[in-house]
Amino acid sequence: MTSLLVRGIGELVTNDPALGDGSPLGRLTDAALVVEGGRVAWVGTTTEAPAADAVEDLGGRTVVPGFVDSHSHLVFAGDRSAEFAARMAGTAYSAGGIRTTVAATRAATDEQLTAHVAKHVAEMRRQGTTTVEIKSGYGLTVRDEARALAIARTFTEETTFLGAHVVPEEYADDPAGYVELVTGPMLTAVAGHARWIDVFCESGAFDADQARTILAAGRAAGLAGRLHANQLGPGPGVQLACELELVAVDHCTYLDDRDVAALGDTGTIATLLPGVEFSTRSPYPDARRLLDAGVVVALASDCNPGSSYTSSMPLCLALAVREMRMTPAEALWSATRGGALALARDELGRLSPGGPAHYVVLDAPSYVHLAYRPGVPLVLDVRGGPTPEPPRADPNSQLGL
Ligand SMILES: [Zn+2]
Repeated sequence: MTSLLVRGIGELVTNDPALGDGSPLGRLTDAALVVEGGRVAWVGTTTEAPAADAVEDLGGRTVVPGFVDSHSHLVFAGDRSAEFAARMAGTAYSAGGIRTTVAATRAATDEQLTAHVAKHVAEMRRQGTTTVEIKSGYGLTVRDEARALAIARTFTEETTFLGAHVVPEEYADDPAGYVELVTGPMLTAVAGHARWIDVFCESGAFDADQARTILAAGRAAGLAGRLHANQLGPGPGVQLACELELVAVDHCTYLDDRDVAALGDTGTIATLLPGVEFSTRSPYPDARRLLDAGVVVALASDCNPGSSYTSSMPLCLALAVREMRMTPAEALWSATRGGALALARDELGRLSPGGPAHYVVLDAPSYVHLAYRPGVPLVLDVRGGPTPEPPRADPNSQLGL
């Protein structure tokens, strides 16, 4: 097993408070790390670095843990740019637009869906994401949900059954019948391909009683629960997530004091998805209020064709700083370590000796540049992690730039 010494790291964020400056970011300057067999073998300063089989000097650039994007909906077909344009012209967003994508997804072949997921996963990887969670939820039949999760599973272990995304048109007059389908034959068909089960608990989608029933069925089938909640308005979802002690509840845009207190008390992670508010021109969740109440916050992209068609964790991080009153340090932590904890993957989102070496090289002197230079492609290299490596650009091709 060959070892690689990466030195000349101007700033290294480990997210391990036992390392470096003792802050949650575990930050070191003039740092080095040794990688062996895909794991971090050593972390310290360049001057103390041990010998290794190979050496790479980063010339003062920054290294951060790979982003852990704990919320995405990548198995879909079709395009909703016209809907986005209409919304920017003043039309309000509603959950019903999901049905447009359902029709396109059902009509797509397995090969088309797989190629589409691969393209988006590669896009995420280029922007520094090393772990991604992928949900179903645009099939909404036994066959289409099962194939969505089978396809998602070829890209990540973090797959989530979201049959309860919206009640499909054919069950519009029988939502109870659809809940029976989701908790019965559909759950049986998908259980082998999913780690998590999720419900869109929102007015126009599923209410708290339905969500409770669906999460209980999922738990009995061995799937851990998560929830979409309090996105479009106040609602019971966050309370339900806390009562059931779910690992994470996602969106959390409209919270009352009781919701914030429950999150702080139970430790259920609030996953905030600022790409949604950006793309729907909606008020952002108040991350500062949550952080000040001791709530653990994660950031994710919610990449989906309707309400947040960005795959960029750096963009989400910048929005969180600018629009949600997070500091650059808090936003980086939430986009890496926070995402890992929201997926109950304690070994991810940090660079600790013995742990996986999933990291991003930024062409910048500090991680602060992720928010300071929004929209700039600072990700120079992405190492390790389960998201597949995209094909390298052919260095001989001339683009005429
Ligand atoms: Zn979502």
